[in-house]
Amino acid sequence: MTTQQVNPKLTHNEGLKTGTPTLVGTIAQTLADPTRDCFTQDDYEFLKFHGVYQQDDRDKRKAGKHYIFMVRTKFPGGALTGPQYLACDRLATEYGNHTLRITTRQDFQFHGIIKARLRQTIKTLNEALITTIAACGDVERNVTAPPTPATSPLVDHVLAEARRISNALNPATPAYHKIWLEGVELDLNDPANKDFVDPLYGQHYLPRKFKTAFVIPPLNDIDIFTNDQGFIVIAEGGRLVGYNYVAGGGMGMSHGNAQTFPRLADVVGFLPPEHLEAVAKAGVAVHRDFGDRTNRRHARLKYVLAERGVDWFRAEVERRAGIKLEPARPFQFTRQGDLLGWHRQTNGNYFLGLFVENGRIRDGDGYQLKTGLRRVCERFQPGVRLTTSQNILLVDVRPEDRDRVTAILSEHGVSVDNPFSRTRLASMACPSMPTCGLGLAESERALPELLTRIEGLLAELGLPEEEFIIRMTGCPNGCTRPFMAEIAFVGRAPGKYQFYLGGNEASTRLNRLYRENVKTEDLIPELRQVLTRFAQGRSCGERFGDWCARALWSEPLAAAR
Ligand code: SF4
Repeated sequence: MTTQQVNPKLTHNEGLKTGTPTLVGTIAQTLADPTRDCFTQDDYEFLKFHGVYQQDDRDKRKAGKHYIFMVRTKFPGGALTGPQYLACDRLATEYGNHTLRITTRQDFQFHGIIKARLRQTIKTLNEALITTIAACGDVERNVTAPPTPATSPLVDHVLAEARRISNALNPATPAYHKIWLEGVELDLNDPANKDFVDPLYGQHYLPRKFKTAFVIPPLNDIDIFTNDQGFIVIAEGGRLVGYNYVAGGGMGMSHGNAQTFPRLADVVGFLPPEHLEAVAKAGVAVHRDFGDRTNRRHARLKYVLAERGVDWFRAEVERRAGIKLEPARPFQFTRQGDLLGWHRQTNGNYFLGLFVENGRIRDGDGYQLKTGLRRVCERFQPGVRLTTSQNILLVDVRPEDRDRVTAILSEHGVSVDNPFSRTRLASMACPSMPTCGLGLAESERALPELLTRIEGLLAELGLPEEEFIIRMTGCPNGCTRPFMAEIAFVGRAPGKYQFYLGGNEASTRLNRLYRENVKTEDLIPELRQVLTRFAQGRSCGERFGDWCARALWSEPLAAAR
């Protein structure tokens, strides 16, 4: 029996969406009122659909709420042009907190924008052909796709398909254009606006967010099994023959609530390329029609799959898409992560992968990544790709420009050799404090220093060259996909973390809770114990996550295939 059957009371958000399908709220009125520094609680919910989170600086709460806004872009496949990158760089400097934050869905986030600059920020982004609509909210979020142009000649084709599917799944409300681009209220006396119902999402939109992704095996750089739906490229002789469709993955959970859990997507079946859009829309529609609208913590497609099963889901998708899915074709993932440093593309140009610690592009003492990237983009206008590991790639650099790009970055303290430990290069933290209102513990501000101590511990244990995939989040919503990491710290309370172990290199296996409520000061001693056991008990070449999966629990962890 589902939650909806037990308690049919719909959430407050459902009433908002149904009552105002244009998602207009009173956003325009509040924007026009200089006496107000924040929006109403209902508009807080509508703003998300426009790509905006109303936040407050949690470091300053003792002195009262200091409202700031986070604006998130939407770049399907993480791809943007050099001029678009420069527009983002300028906005972060003029209106934001002087940093650009790469997200795990290949977007940029601008943090610290005050209300008076909110509309101009979004308008300027749109003038650079960058949208923010549906970057947040109960709709399809950014469609992710492999960013690395060297891995397969199919990358460009898949990127184009990611853009096409992103457009097909975008909400159609006229409110976004009116509010942010024209700066006027939506005329609700116009019957087209008064009676507006979104063609895909209907009057109710989705019960919660939805995430779609593409991936090209054997590189699982997109973490495909963590998405609501995903398309695994199947190629023969370098030619795309179709996709394996997966559905029902997701990371978020709530502490102490067994009804919520991270889940790997199920492999549903194979489809030829011409049915891609129909299947993508069918997956969204199943979530729309069967997701739990009574409990937002239980409102993801993964719970529909968990409760009704993959056979039921396949039949629903087939009926809606008007096709019969074939049995899934064989595929294999061997690793995750990005190609860093210089690499030759399939078209003869080069791309440069740069590690961005926790996705934060900024200038620091002796390490001026933001200025260095700006100078390179001004001079050479490379393409830019953001990765789901929160790194950046500069693509389509001509062979004759390579050395100059290297030199400009070097002048700003940035080495194209990415001289960090393998473990640091494989690590990620979410923003959490001070901007995220959901954060229970520090994350981005805590991980760099913790990693320094972990690097010291690894050296002490004779493991300095090993790679450990480490992720930290401030809460169990799991924005950096912590439940796939070999080692994860998930915020439980200020200064306390849930400690997870056992993910794998191919990112096809969930880890498991190892210790609860570990204080910050106890993280290294806990790690020391388990890493010492690993160093003594591993088999030849065995990774830490694989050792954990087989040695730590009586019931070993199993991977999706
Ligand atoms: Fe905020 Fe939690 Fe996401 Fe971190 S994981 S950014 S704390 S919602």
